[in-house]
This record gives sequence, C-alpha cells and structure tokens, in this order.
Amino acid sequence: MVYLNGDFLEKDKAFVSVMDRGFLFGDSVYEVLPVYEGNIFCFKPHLHRLSESLEAIKIPNPYTNEKWRMTLQQLINYHPQHTNQSIYLQVTRGCDTDRKHTYGKLKPTVYMQSSPFEAVRKEDFLSGLSAITRDDIRWSQCNTKVTSLLANVMYAQEAKQNNVEDVILCRNNIVTECSSANLFIVKNGCVYTHPKGPHILPGITREVVLECADYYNINTEEVTISKEDLLDADEVWISSSTREVLPITKIDDVLINQGKVGGIWPLVFDRYQVEKSLNS
Ligand code: PLP
Repeated sequence: MVYLNGDFLEKDKAFVSVMDRGFLFGDSVYEVLPVYEGNIFCFKPHLHRLSESLEAIKIPNPYTNEKWRMTLQQLINYHPQHTNQSIYLQVTRGCDTDRKHTYGKLKPTVYMQSSPFEAVRKEDFLSGLSAITRDDIRWSQCNTKVTSLLANVMYAQEAKQNNVEDVILCRNNIVTECSSANLFIVKNGCVYTHPKGPHILPGITREVVLECADYYNINTEEVTISKEDLLDADEVWISSSTREVLPITKIDDVLINQGKVGGIWPLVFDRYQVEKSLNS
C-alpha cells in the first residue's frame, strides 16, 4: 500500500499527473524515515527537517505534525509483515494547468511509500567497506532535502559500477559527504565531521552518531576535513538512516588503518543500537 493525497492505494493504482511540478521540474522535497518494530526512529528531527526543506523552497507544509504522525502510522500499520520499514515521503509543489517555471497557489502533492528494511548487522561489516572520491559538483543548497538528485544519482551509479559502498565528495579539496550519507573521520581519538551548512545535508543519523560518541566522552569536532586528512585518518565512517553507521577501510587505492576497522566504530555502532531501542 502507498499513500497519495489522502488515500491508501495499491502501488500500481497510484498515479500522479504529468502536470505535477515534481515530475516536470523536480520541484519537491522528501524524507526517508527508518521504522524499527513499528516505531519511527527520530520522528521529530525528520519532521523538523521536512518543514525546513519545505520552507526553504516555499512550499506550504500541507499537514500538521499530528496529521503527519497519524498518516505515517497508518501507512506503517498496513505492513505488519515488515519488522523494519523505510518510509519514503515526498511533497511536491503540486499540479498546474500548463508547464511554466513560475507558479501560483497550488495544492501540494503528498506521496508516501513503505519498503522493507533490513537492520544493519555488525558482523557483516567487520572487514570494512570501500569508497571512491569524486569532485562535488552539486549545487550550494545541499542542506535542503530536494528530490532534484541527478548528481547524487550519477555518483551512486558510479559507486555501484565500481563495486564500492559510496562516493565520497570533495569540494575544493574539502571532503563534504557522500552521495547519500554523511561522513566522519577519526584521528587520534577525536571524531571529525563537516560542519552543518550549505554543502552537506544535516543528516539525522549524523546527529545520533555524534551523540553516541559523546556518550563515551569521545571528543567530536564539526570542522572541515581535507582530502589528505581523509586518507590519513585512523577510521572513516559513513552514516544514513538506512545504513546507520558503517566503517570504510579503503578509499580509492588507499587503505585506511591498514585496511582494518578501527576501535571506535564498534563502540559507536553498539551505542547506536541502544539509541534505537530508547527511541522506540
Ligand atoms: N547526505 C546525503 C546527501 C543524503 O542523501 C543522506 C540520506 O539520504 C544523508 C546525508 C544522511 O541523512 P540521514 O541520516 O538523515 O538519513
């Protein structure tokens, strides 16, 4: 079942007009919310980021937080067979009568779908993952979660073709984030990640990962990281709602920590699991 503009429908019965600006211009925003055993993890931060994205591109928020919660819960309840779900939620500016760049007052289109979601298992990642680096050619409002994701799509496909987990993006030699994840390095016991701002998405998982490090009194710093710092790191991690926090041990042809997962990632991973259960 999917949700479209007030109705729950079979996926093959849900249609959006060709006049929808989401289709014509990518004029829309989205969220991805992880659901563990029927409970949305970090509901409030996701809803807050959604309202900020809508505000940034001047789409009125079509629902109250209460209505969002109720509708999401209804969608979740349609899939009791899935222990964990990943909810994709999209709001477009709506449909117009003709294709033109400018817009008047439109009724936003709201679409949501649920997919089964395999929780990350620590034992699958003890050898670490690989990544490649590329220039970050995206626009300068990466902090708004818009569906115009062409650059990200191309990077993700390049990662797939190179058989690596993700592409790490560098803007003027500064490492920003990945095609669909935030990035952390560990050096001499301190965890570093790019500061919030126009060059990264303020990941919800990123915040939880920083809290997990705090829990162990591990120092964290939100500062810019050069490509040299990245390749010389003791540990490199990536984070996202569906991948949680994963270790990277090879970048391009360079081994990180001689290709071994470091000692802090397992701690943060374990604490993340606790945060999930506390939030539920
Ligand atoms: N950065 C980018 C570009 C992303 O697309 C995503 C998630 O899709 C993230 C970071 C991680 O965000 P979150 O932790 O909120 O899933």
